[in-house]
Amino acid sequence: MRLRNVPGARDVIADSPLVVHDPEKAKGSWNKIFNNNHPLRIEIGMGKGKFLHEMAEKNPDINYIGIEKYSSVLLRALQKMDETPVPNLMFIRMDAENVDQVFSREEVDRIYLNFSDPWPKDRHAKRRLTSREFLKRYDRFLKKDGVVEFKTDNRDLFDFALEELSFAGFEVLQFTYDLHHDSEMVEGNIMTEYEERFSSMGNPICKYIVKR
Ligand code: SAM
Repeated sequence: MRLRNVPGARDVIADSPLVVHDPEKAKGSWNKIFNNNHPLRIEIGMGKGKFLHEMAEKNPDINYIGIEKYSSVLLRALQKMDETPVPNLMFIRMDAENVDQVFSREEVDRIYLNFSDPWPKDRHAKRRLTSREFLKRYDRFLKKDGVVEFKTDNRDLFDFALEELSFAGFEVLQFTYDLHHDSEMVEGNIMTEYEERFSSMGNPICKYIVKR
């Protein structure tokens, strides 16, 4: 998702107390930022933050961090927080390539990847957030038995993601090629913005839950 450049977005983000500006300095002490010892869950490539905002509202005893590369997109998530504030949600504007420099060993118990960019060319496979390279980064800060949840409507990307797991030592707990018709996996499902868009077009949604 890349919205047209929104003038002033960078200034709003720079001034926002909801955005952690030097996230590397918080490594190992995110509990101090949230002022509690609740579990920490993150969404990488959050987009406008619909999914994570709803998760945070429903689960006040879990801390959430949304990571998004583009200011114009993150701005929308901040606007949603103006309308409906939730105390257990914060944001980082960064490229996830450096995500392992922001969290320390065993600091995160769950990672959400929703409708990640497919990077369809083979030579760009390393950039996919479900590639073995990214999984190895996640392994550096996920708790033992911590999980990664991935949703997409892109079947090729999903099959690639399943194949990558063994190269990084992740184990499949559950997966489906049609989430919305899988009575077990769909329970409690919160739709992301892209999920709403693609499922309304009739596209089946694939999902895996894997653990390290
Ligand atoms: N997760 C949302 C959803 O399901 O509605 C948004 C999906 S959108 C297709 C992918 C988002 O991931 C975009 O907002 C994009 O800017 C962000 N993104 C892609 N690569 C990223 C990266 N390396 N680091 C941080 N954000 C990234």
